[in-house]
Amino acid sequence: MSKPNKDDLIVIAGAGGFIAGALARRFHDVGFTRIRAIDRKPLPQWYQRVPGVENLSMDLGEKENAIRAVEDATEVYNLAADMGGMGFIEHFRVECLRSILVNTNLIDAAWRAGAERYFFSSSACAYNTDLQKDPNVRALKESDAYPAMAERGYGWEKLISEMFCQEYWAERGLETKIARFHNIYGPLGTWFGGREKAPAAMCRKVIEAKDTGKLEIEIWGDGSQTRSFCYIDDCVLGIDLIMHSDQLIATPINLGTSELIAIDDLVTMVEEIGGVRLKRTYDLGAPKGVAGRNSDNTFIKSVLDWEPNTPLRAGMAKTYAWIERQYQDRKAGKRVVQD
Ligand code: NAD
Repeated sequence: MSKPNKDDLIVIAGAGGFIAGALARRFHDVGFTRIRAIDRKPLPQWYQRVPGVENLSMDLGEKENAIRAVEDATEVYNLAADMGGMGFIEHFRVECLRSILVNTNLIDAAWRAGAERYFFSSSACAYNTDLQKDPNVRALKESDAYPAMAERGYGWEKLISEMFCQEYWAERGLETKIARFHNIYGPLGTWFGGREKAPAAMCRKVIEAKDTGKLEIEIWGDGSQTRSFCYIDDCVLGIDLIMHSDQLIATPINLGTSELIAIDDLVTMVEEIGGVRLKRTYDLGAPKGVAGRNSDNTFIKSVLDWEPNTPLRAGMAKTYAWIERQYQDRKAGKRVVQD
């Protein structure tokens, strides 16, 4: 295991968003003193800004900005991407594909700057969609990305960026790490506006129904789609462990839970947390993604002797409580995450 020193410069791209913001918080909390956080959003729109962290607002799709971003960096974490739930990635495939510019610029700049390690946030959307046509899926293992038939747009960008990471190691010796995230959720994530993912959307809809007294909920698809969901604290711990494992160089690895749940059952869970029962309607024409997707954690357990382990119910209770506070604050005219 190779670890940076506490005064080495850690660069985190996409840090105005959900996961990279939480990662900056983690590295700050465990004692790193030089963290540079970057996002193209203006600073007031960042989901969190960690005290003592250097925050830069710039577009890493521009080569000069990527070069500036990684100056003196020991480690670079690329979590910057145009990204959202199914509603976003099915409708904005060009935007998703254009995230290739960020990784292409950043990995080259990191290599030229002599960074020691580079992390790329890939996705379960890189997996072959032909293997995900049944809600009772076989969990996806790392080799299931090939033969390739990734999710249109977003998934192909991830797969090609993974390949950049593999070849920068093979040809140029830059130590790269690649994690395929499976549906990360938790407080301080996107919770309204069209980019939110299912767990946050469900919480918001249940809270809204309770608040308005209109005791109904609309579900995208027929509710039988299955997924696994990984809590944010597990995700950032997993990123740290993966980045610093010598066995995982240029080797994609799942970062998710294997606790599979149908969307209908997720709604029931959120109803229970909120203490309400709602009348359900199903929008069969809405974006719903693949029929089933789960993470096979055999590999991560064998390498790290660890896997994400926050029970969904516990993580959803915390997420619900956070979104409820956000909802109330917004209603009261206060500023909330994403404003
Ligand atoms: P997010 O949207 O909250 O954060 C991504 C951030 O990247 C945003 O703040 C955005 O402004 C920034 N960004 C986009 N393009 C940029 C650019 N050109 N220059 C600088 N910043 C830019 O999303 P997230 O959920 O935190 O996801 C982080 C990473 O993890 C992304 O690469 C995403 O594809 C990947 N991922 C997330 C999930 C999930 O469930 N959240 C699942 C699989 C993979």
